[in-house]
Amino acid sequence: MSKILFIKQDSYNQLEIDKAITRAFDFFGGVKNFINPGDKVLLKVNLVAGHEITRRVTTDPAIVRAAAKLVISCGGVPFIADSPGIDNFMNAAKKAGFIQVAQELGIECKELTDPVNLPVKSGASFHKIQVSKYVTEANKIINLAKLKTHGQMYLTMGVKNLFGCIPGRLKAEKFAALLLDIYEGVAPCFTIIDGVIGMHGEGPTSGDPYNFGLIGAAVDALKMDFWLCKFLGADFNEYPLYLAAKNRKMTQCVLNPDDLAGDFDSTQEFKNVILPKTHSMRLIPRIPFLDKLMTSKPVHIPEKCIGCGRCESICAAKALKHDNKKLYFDYNKCIRCYCCHEMCPVKAIEFQESKLLKLVNFLTR
Ligand code: SF4
Ligand code: SF4
Repeated sequence: MSKILFIKQDSYNQLEIDKAITRAFDFFGGVKNFINPGDKVLLKVNLVAGHEITRRVTTDPAIVRAAAKLVISCGGVPFIADSPGIDNFMNAAKKAGFIQVAQELGIECKELTDPVNLPVKSGASFHKIQVSKYVTEANKIINLAKLKTHGQMYLTMGVKNLFGCIPGRLKAEKFAALLLDIYEGVAPCFTIIDGVIGMHGEGPTSGDPYNFGLIGAAVDALKMDFWLCKFLGADFNEYPLYLAAKNRKMTQCVLNPDDLAGDFDSTQEFKNVILPKTHSMRLIPRIPFLDKLMTSKPVHIPEKCIGCGRCESICAAKALKHDNKKLYFDYNKCIRCYCCHEMCPVKAIEFQESKLLKLVNFLTR
């Protein structure tokens, strides 16, 4: 049985983080159990967009530094990588503190570019998935994720970290199936969750910091995600990744207290943690012509807007125009992917539930 380790950790003090990450690897047999001398090791961070570290949108650099040092100590060649949804990679990586870590340790920090086909397992929902060539060229992947809520996917932790903003027309259910395919295809050898200070509310970029006080470590990131969902007191029926895994009858859906190890008190309640409202009626059969009525629509809060134009740039459906701090939505074109909300740096795009959705939520919650 694959154990899930949760360590109590309240600060990003580098010495303490070094100890915690060493302890995490040691619990699973030591970093040498995962990394061979000469291995190219991709450290997959969460760099969804360029935000100051204190916003807690991105993996903390102390955790990335600790993991990189351990990989180097056993002869591996780590590199830090991700692909921000929209921001210039170097600027975003600088804000997140990753460039500084890379310079200090003499390692690369690079954008995940150059898509190639990812071999997928039989039984996968998607037969063609593209990922950066740096993912397929790496000998090992260590997944360094952040514990956050997510407006569309409910929660983003280990498995969701393997992918960025939800593209194109994929809805939550399909996206969850895609995430499972990617998780199995990319197969990170080890996952660490940065839950020292994560995010709650309207994550993954517009929420508020929340002190969860934990670091999670596991070989099985999916099972760790489900345990975290339980710790948060979240509703599994709102969590598309869980529903997709249940649909596939994956063993990770069965949580047994014997899975757990570590000194984090798993019975403690996270007081006042704000989980995102889900914005679609994913539990109800889809009726195509009612699709728009069954989802929330993005709306602009002009008094918060700084006129950066990110929302217009990210909108794959070309459903919004930005002009001098005013947004014009074309709701007929809008595919409700919520990337504009995800990418807005100042929470100037919110959700408005349709009357039908309000009614159903009232009746079902
Ligand atoms: S307006 Fe926002 S929610 Fe609608 S398609 Fe564009 S990015 Fe997605
Ligand atoms: S709504 Fe947000 S992303 Fe769009 S222009 Fe305003 S501040 Fe920028």
